[in-house]
Amino acid sequence: MSTIEHWIGGRLTAGAATRRGAVFNPATGQRQHEVVLAEPADVDAAVAAAKAAFASWSQASLSARTKIMFNFRELLNAHIVPLAEIISDEHGKVLSDAAGEVQRGLEVVEFACGIPQLLKGEYSDQASTGVDVFSFREPLGVCAGITPFNFPAMVPMWMYPVAIACGNTFVLKPSERDPSAANFVADLWRRAGLPDGVFNVVHGDKAAVDAILDHPDVAAVSFVGSTPIARYLHQRASATGKRVQALGGAKNHAVILPDADLEFAANHLTAAAFGSAGERCMAISAAVAVGGAGDPLMDILTRKAHEVVVGAGRDPKSEMGPVVTAAARDRIENLIGAGERQGAKVLVDGRGHRVPGFEDGFFVGPTVIDQVDTSMDVYTEEIFGPVLSVVRSDSAEAAIALINANPYGNGTAIFTGSGEAARRFQRGVHVGMIGINVPIPVPMAYYSFGGWKDSLFGDKHIHGPEGVSFYTRGKVVTSRWPHVEAAHGASLHFPTSS
Ligand code: NAD
Repeated sequence: MSTIEHWIGGRLTAGAATRRGAVFNPATGQRQHEVVLAEPADVDAAVAAAKAAFASWSQASLSARTKIMFNFRELLNAHIVPLAEIISDEHGKVLSDAAGEVQRGLEVVEFACGIPQLLKGEYSDQASTGVDVFSFREPLGVCAGITPFNFPAMVPMWMYPVAIACGNTFVLKPSERDPSAANFVADLWRRAGLPDGVFNVVHGDKAAVDAILDHPDVAAVSFVGSTPIARYLHQRASATGKRVQALGGAKNHAVILPDADLEFAANHLTAAAFGSAGERCMAISAAVAVGGAGDPLMDILTRKAHEVVVGAGRDPKSEMGPVVTAAARDRIENLIGAGERQGAKVLVDGRGHRVPGFEDGFFVGPTVIDQVDTSMDVYTEEIFGPVLSVVRSDSAEAAIALINANPYGNGTAIFTGSGEAARRFQRGVHVGMIGINVPIPVPMAYYSFGGWKDSLFGDKHIHGPEGVSFYTRGKVVTSRWPHVEAAHGASLHFPTSS
């Protein structure tokens, strides 16, 4: 069993940590590594390294930064497979899914390779006679990222490529449940030529997070995780004057109208509900079947849920792996039980799922629950497991009202053959990311990702143009170069154009 250490100032260190966390292989249920859990002194060391590196990194030319970004992009692209294996072994997701998350992260790196274009300022020639006005943006300083277990590579890549390309330095606090991907990436940065201290990794739990939130030398915090922690973190980091974006949990609804191609919709719902064992912030966890779509849809969904191949993430035949911990499995199974007790119909029951050869793994099978109403725990809780709850609805309008009454607003989708119905949906829902016949509408890297309501605390969505804006602050310069003979006496008037 190896020990996973921090990466501070360009080297591995156990630092001041005396506490250790267990890292499991969810497929076997075995403890495979331990990870050091930071004390505030470790956060101090990482922030000090990042602060020291900021002095020169923030002054590095756009071409120097871009060259390193391209090197990093090449290295990452060449290491998708080993990184996917690390992710699969600690998170549990199947290899193809792990490779997919690296690919989506890579796209943010590619976006950040275009930083010279993204940081171009504005220029107004002759704004007033002999006066020009222009703007440019500067990096903030030391930025921190605090990330969840479910995308150990992609979610941090929503943050640090943009932050670093903008000239900031970065301290990443990844999830303590699957920490190895962060160290693998740190080594790629080193090989790409990134100066020591620009990218640091501190492993840990609440103690590390709180030390980051309170640290006077941290300028900005990006968080992705559950809503209660997002809310807490936003308040605490804002109180110390930091810039904060905190993305929270979700309950993503897919509305299926009677005019939809039901076979197509069911295929996509199956993938969106059970892919990655439902441990995606953009997973569809609630299907809203409108009118006559309900009964035929349930028949197809039930059949498809039974067909999903559940197994170890490393087995190429597996379509869905285990959930992340035994505690997660128990919580999901308890919620399915609550649904049953509260009157919903469990049509496909994933409780007690066993995979031959992996009897100690943390498996839950695909689960489909029909006749769910909005008061039931399976609806009100973010289950974060392979459970699809189906709510019946009378009309598209009622479905939109149901989505808008939900406290979350991360993603949603509609399946329909009607452009007019889709347009009413996209305009009517109070949700940040919308799919039309697309079940998981994760925006491309050159757009920004983020939800509404309890799915996001802060003003800025992540990566894309809003990411560049989050990690920089603007200056506007008003400039005049007077001719000596044109200089005349002072005027105390408020400056207006002339
Ligand atoms: P989590 O909130 O438990 O943990 C996220 C991070 O916060 C981790 O680094 C963890 O160490 C830290 N943390 C946990 N408890 C803390 C506490 N009490 N004080 C301070 N820090 C604490 O989330 P998770 O279980 O790792 O991830 C799943 C959640 O993340 C789900 O709710 C999911 O919807 C959400 N998520 C959201 C998005 C999004 O884009 N909105 C993306 C991915 C995941």
